[in-house]
Amino acid sequence: MNFQRKRFLTQILIFLAANLRPFGVKTGFCFPFFYCNACPAATSACPLRALELSVFENNFKWKLFTYPLLILGFVGVLTGRGICAWACPIGLLQRLTAKVARKIKKMPLAKRLGHHPLEHYLRYAKYFVLIGFVFLTSALIGFMFTDICPIGFLTGTLPTLSIFWGKFVPSSYFLIASIIFILFTILIFTIERGWCRYFCPLGALLAPFNKISLLHVARVEEKTFQKECLRCNACSNICPMGIDVIHLNRDPECILCGKCIEVCPKDLIHYEK
Ligand code: SF4
Ligand code: SF4
Ligand code: SF4
Repeated sequence: MNFQRKRFLTQILIFLAANLRPFGVKTGFCFPFFYCNACPAATSACPLRALELSVFENNFKWKLFTYPLLILGFVGVLTGRGICAWACPIGLLQRLTAKVARKIKKMPLAKRLGHHPLEHYLRYAKYFVLIGFVFLTSALIGFMFTDICPIGFLTGTLPTLSIFWGKFVPSSYFLIASIIFILFTILIFTIERGWCRYFCPLGALLAPFNKISLLHVARVEEKTFQKECLRCNACSNICPMGIDVIHLNRDPECILCGKCIEVCPKDLIHYEK
């Protein structure tokens, strides 16, 4: 079985495991990926929500602050951002929308925007979302990212609305959350892994671990690479995160999906421990 099939199977199994509350399974921990605890079926809690509550209105709760960071730090040290490609249900969702996004990518305007120098800087937006809306506004004014989170809207609000129709009481952020959810939907259908590339605060938390993680994706040693690489660009073209794989060097954007490994005709890229 190739990596992509194994990955798909793993993603489906983890998605099912994340939704076992109707069978009485509730862990009391938080997920190491993005999923909303407001989902009526969710087995665990959202790590971002836990972090927000730990600093809420400057009332610091160190246990609530430490345990999501320990869980995320543990998976981060082991696999870097691998959780994004192999486990996160929102990664799975974007895998399904990628077919449309790839078609749009071939259109002339999308090509130009994709190569625009600002595209690179837009990737830093996720760090601003993390620091600004998960930590700062939660601590200073009590406004939390998860109040308007599109993932919460998709996996928490929408299922709750459909199950408890008529009893649902919208929060004061419902309208803005709906608009952000619509923008999120447009984003993931127009740019492959657009949410993960630019805005996901959890991706921002995991990304720096790529620099030190035990498992990572690497090229073969430099001399062989320079001699054997065909410069065919097949690796970069297939990369869902838009990485220039020829210059890959523990890139914080790499989600360890293994697509570049499988596509390289010269076997110059591999998983490294
Ligand atoms: S970047 Fe965020 S949404 Fe994307 S796969 Fe990673 S944790 Fe999930
Ligand atoms: S560099 Fe390779 S493993 Fe990393 S995200 Fe791109 S295709 Fe996947
Ligand atoms: S797919 Fe392999 S041979 Fe082609 S550019 Fe990438 S590393 Fe070089």
